[in-house]
Amino acid sequence: MRHALIIGAGIAGPVTAMALQRAGISSTVYESRSETAEAVGGFLTVAVNGQAALEVLGLRHCLDSGFPTPDMAITSGAGKLLAAFPYGPMLPDGRTARTITRSDLYCALREEALRRDIDIQHDRRLLDAVSNGEMVRAFFADGSSAIGDLLIGADGLRSRTREIICDTSPPARYTGLLNTGGYARGLRVHTPPGELNLIFGRHAFFGYVVHPDKSIWWFANLPERIEPTPQGLSAMDIRDRLTTLFARDRGPILDIVAHTPDLATPYGTYDFPRVPAWYRNLMIILGDAAHAASPSAGQGASLALEDAVVLARALTERPSITGAFTSFEDLRRPRVERVVAWGRKTGDSKAAGPVGRLIRDHVIFPHFVGRRSGRGRADPLAWLYDFPATWDAVLTH
Ligand SMILES: Cc1cc2nc3c(=O)[nH]c(=O)nc-3n(C[C@H](O)[C@H](O)[C@H](O)COP(=O)(O)OP(=O)(O)OC[C@H]3O[C@@H](n4cnc5c(N)ncnc54)[C@H](O)[C@@H]3O)c2cc1C
Repeated sequence: MRHALIIGAGIAGPVTAMALQRAGISSTVYESRSETAEAVGGFLTVAVNGQAALEVLGLRHCLDSGFPTPDMAITSGAGKLLAAFPYGPMLPDGRTARTITRSDLYCALREEALRRDIDIQHDRRLLDAVSNGEMVRAFFADGSSAIGDLLIGADGLRSRTREIICDTSPPARYTGLLNTGGYARGLRVHTPPGELNLIFGRHAFFGYVVHPDKSIWWFANLPERIEPTPQGLSAMDIRDRLTTLFARDRGPILDIVAHTPDLATPYGTYDFPRVPAWYRNLMIILGDAAHAASPSAGQGASLALEDAVVLARALTERPSITGAFTSFEDLRRPRVERVVAWGRKTGDSKAAGPVGRLIRDHVIFPHFVGRRSGRGRADPLAWLYDFPATWDAVLTH
């Protein structure tokens, strides 16, 4: 039986291990953190295409602690409704996009992988890897090493595996937006639970969704043209900054911020437009390591889940590992690069200047108004949410 070394136990890592198991390939997952995600903050929304990928592996229950997020509404800072539409199509069983804390998702995936007898090792930071064309050997920061038939880098935006595979890869691209957020309690807003509200404020962007328990989960994107240093970020008075930036916008933004005891320390956001090579010899990257999309796409986790099943499926179909890697890249590159480009455009519209805002609000968004039910008009974003939910269809889709 082939054995894979998987680097990273975020989203793509454990799911790739479970997908490989289905393909008859054993694996060990190596994670640099001491624990998977107990300390990781924030939340994300898994769109229906990501859920289809989970469905292929019988993993949809890993989203159970999340809540349905079927709709989106977009308003301007002046309070004008710019667009309202479904957050992707509804699946045949009635499921829609789901919002979940990052730590709940990471922990659920890890627990399910452990239940399926997958070996996950913590405190194992990959430093280097070499291949002789027959085997791969990985070297870890604790001085240990491991041997496998292939190595899969699921080690995220700052991937070490990417550097090992492709030393000409450019660095991650700063999007010009900082992210912060939190969970507000004890405030009532007139918004139905599960509707993701996105507000294009005059100076910054705000998103919130009401949890069925009435807490409000939110994030804000603040334009910052020059990439800030870690020192600059930790010195930032983020509450003061939010209060100033959103002072002239309508809606519940300032109340939500005021009802949030702990604000996330702000951090820069990034994407990765094009990594020239995804694989070399018996080593490959997937998920954010290969193609991080801006958070504005709301698709990075879903793409990582899709990658996991497509790679495993390719490894069952192609006799050679590098043949499978070629199929994987041929299948995935056009889709993921389209999503990354779309996410970049969405992010840029959040930081639009006065003229850009006029075009956005009066020309682009009115086109979408009325798409709430999705009926009667072809959905221009249908391609984004399109992924098959069966093992057999994954390669032919
Ligand atoms: C603010 C924000 C909001 C987002 N919102 C959404 C959303 O709503 N919907 C969505 O689909 N996506 C969203 N995303 C994107 C999503 O979080 C990522 O695309 C997704 O986490 C990628 O999964 P991954 O497994 O590839 O990488 P990660 O989840 O980053 O996992 C990588 C793992 O590798 C480990 N690692 C790193 N280096 C090493 C090493 N050298 N050795 C061993 N282990 C290592 C890390 O510790 C980590 O556990 C958002 C991202 C951000 C920043």
